[in-house]
Amino acid sequence: MKRIIYMDNNATTRVAPEVVDVMLPFFGEVYGNPSSAHTFGGEVGKHIRRAREHVASLIHASPDEIVFTSCGTESDSTAIWSAIASYPEKRHIVTSRVEHPAVKNLFEHLAKKGYQITFVPVDRQGRLDLDYLHDHLRDDTAVVSIMWANNETGVVFPIEEIAAAVRRRGIVFHTDAVQAVGKIPVDVQQVPLDMLSLSGHKIHAPKGVAALYIRKGTRFAPFLIGGHQERNRRGGTENVAAIVGLGEAARLAAAKMKTAGEKSSRLRDRLEAGLVSRIPKTMVNGDPRHRLPNTTNISFEYIEGESILLMMDELGICASSGSACTSGSLEPSHVLRAMGVPFTAAHGSIRFSLSEHNTEDDIDYTIEKLPDIVARLRSLSPFWNAEQAA
Ligand code: PLP
Repeated sequence: MKRIIYMDNNATTRVAPEVVDVMLPFFGEVYGNPSSAHTFGGEVGKHIRRAREHVASLIHASPDEIVFTSCGTESDSTAIWSAIASYPEKRHIVTSRVEHPAVKNLFEHLAKKGYQITFVPVDRQGRLDLDYLHDHLRDDTAVVSIMWANNETGVVFPIEEIAAAVRRRGIVFHTDAVQAVGKIPVDVQQVPLDMLSLSGHKIHAPKGVAALYIRKGTRFAPFLIGGHQERNRRGGTENVAAIVGLGEAARLAAAKMKTAGEKSSRLRDRLEAGLVSRIPKTMVNGDPRHRLPNTTNISFEYIEGESILLMMDELGICASSGSACTSGSLEPSHVLRAMGVPFTAAHGSIRFSLSEHNTEDDIDYTIEKLPDIVARLRSLSPFWNAEQAA
């Protein structure tokens, strides 16, 4: 089989073998429904409880503040719809210009339904304009939803300060922490937020399982109305195997966070330095001082990111241009545009997102191959040739 160098961990991660192991019994002999009255089902409920404890512990929450959902997108939607349903008289909502489509597209949908939306801008390094945020909080603001860490650039927002400012105005605060949880410390005791989304497949659990943290006392309206599961906060029979897998992934993430982060940031820095020093007209996007340890977003000016991806793909190198959800369209990423990255650079941007499974060999191979790919594409680029002739 072709060698795969996987550097697309912000899109999804490999399920950890330990996670697979704890899930397997639930596809076999342990198939009871946790809502059943009999002991056979009740036993399954115990495994869900343990998973809930592990997820809660990863973010320093109490287990009954965790609601299992089907994906990060569902957690985001649940939080935002809940806030606006809980405060129907409030018609203004706030988010940033650089959210993942899971939040961005919901806000755009709500705009069509008559909500007034404030999109808080970011600067050239992807840092949130905190003054703008403070100035736009209103008495009729129903919810503020700002991500903890950006999926495309890895930029980490000062979420404690943001949450405190929103709390002072008595407004509900939700954060999409899908890219932050498991990679950097997330402690809901330290941050006065009301709701937080996380997703399993970003932390070596399977796809299709996630969680929403809801602080005790937060007004809440369920998104999926049905059975009494999740203490009436999310109807539907639990995806038991996946939830148990998420619990194990959360336990592993807490145990390994420091070493995994140190390893991926060392490899990330090596990759960045190697590419920037060997390839002219190359820039790193995003505040280097406040970034996830595993992520770099690099622009190779005057060429298309999609073409770079295709040529890397032939060599088995997996990365991403923009977020996976927007690939398929050649529009430059809304995140880089919000940062004011020039078009010629935004078009040629690649996100490399590492994990503890990457090796120095992966990095060195990429550093060896990419200069030639970029040179070949630039030789075909009218923009590059015009720039050279100028
Ligand atoms: N939010 C962010 C920041 C993400 O990066 C993603 C996935 O890429 C999501 C939300 C959506 O999560 P899911 O794929 O579990 O729906």
